[in-house]
Amino acid sequence: MTDLFSKFDPLIQQRETLLSTGITDPFSLVMEEVKSPTVAVCNGRETILLGTYNYMGMTFDEDVIAAGQNALTNFGAGTTGSRVLNGTFQGHKECEDALKEFYGMDHAMVFSTGYQANLGIISTIAGKGDYVILDIDSHASIYDGCAMGNAEIVPFRHNDVEALEKRLKRLPADAGKLVVLEGVYSMLGDIAPLKEMIRVSKEAGAMVLVDEAHSMGFIGPNGRGVAEEQGVLDDCDFIIGTFSKSVGTVGGFCVSNHPKFEVMRLVCRPYVFTASLPPAVVACSAASIRKLMHNGNKRAHLWENSKTLHKGLIDLGFTLGTETPQSAIIAVIMPDLERGAMMWEALLHEGLYVNLARPPATPAGMTLLRCSLCAEHSADQVTEILAMFEAAGKKIGII
Ligand code: PMP
Repeated sequence: MTDLFSKFDPLIQQRETLLSTGITDPFSLVMEEVKSPTVAVCNGRETILLGTYNYMGMTFDEDVIAAGQNALTNFGAGTTGSRVLNGTFQGHKECEDALKEFYGMDHAMVFSTGYQANLGIISTIAGKGDYVILDIDSHASIYDGCAMGNAEIVPFRHNDVEALEKRLKRLPADAGKLVVLEGVYSMLGDIAPLKEMIRVSKEAGAMVLVDEAHSMGFIGPNGRGVAEEQGVLDDCDFIIGTFSKSVGTVGGFCVSNHPKFEVMRLVCRPYVFTASLPPAVVACSAASIRKLMHNGNKRAHLWENSKTLHKGLIDLGFTLGTETPQSAIIAVIMPDLERGAMMWEALLHEGLYVNLARPPATPAGMTLLRCSLCAEHSADQVTEILAMFEAAGKKIGII
């Protein structure tokens, strides 16, 4: 018998080598208590959270929690069914209405996660004989959507407009084409030149899908994302997003103005063949989305935090994923996995949680300490965070 697990031996070995140094496992941390969007108890210690994507701090918003409690009481714990059978409750409709209003679009479809939204929309829209043209640094859910569908996959160099244009020009003029982009790339926190990319895509007759997972609620005059910021929201055929970041819950969605969009509800397998979100989750999400429409002050504070942290880390001598702050994600580049894990642990001992990110999630084999700021971080917390980075960086010998 061939042990089907043998293909994982190199990974098991790498993990064992790392843990044999006595380091805390960076991938099995437990939040024993969560006190607020920015503070939790980990290993019995109060810890500042700087790696949760909880950009707008909506997880503890009073109105959001009240909406969830009300739905839990009145609609029960779960739907026990697919959206196309018994799993569409009033709350799912209200959530989709909130999304349509938030984006000013005609159609909204809520999925059980953002991962499933990409999986479903990409694999269903682009079929046999069609092409999906995607940035090489695209999120795993985009790649998995491509793998699940039957279209030809054409990757292009990260954020490179010319490379995209060249690829598009080589494809048959009359073939169906879907260009898949992200507003903010989640590993390095850099933003895409959507305006130019959408222009060349449209010139080539392609449809455009933009994943705004990391920009919703924060970037753009109304928090609609990078496409809004760059004035090209109306040129996007599909916007994909998630509730697991700024919205502060769980779930995914696609919004669109395409007149035939509603047919997706019948043909999109990751929508049809899974249970819908629980009533409390859609109620929390709808309340959160409605509040995010009027969150200008929070957005301004989040930008301040991002700028302060970015500058502070540069001044301390760290190497960051972007030269200037472009989003609420600030990636600190580590020399290798071992020192990355040591630095991650040293920060945890200081009382700070960040994400340790490594290949295949990261581009170019990088190990990153990925920080994501929250609008609820106070200026004092940002100062504290910088002091923790300084202490840990000196201890590990990175700065
Ligand atoms: N798209 C991007 C760009 C993401 O970063 C993520 C989550 N990290 C997703 C989609 C999936 O979202 P969800 O957590 O809702 O599955």
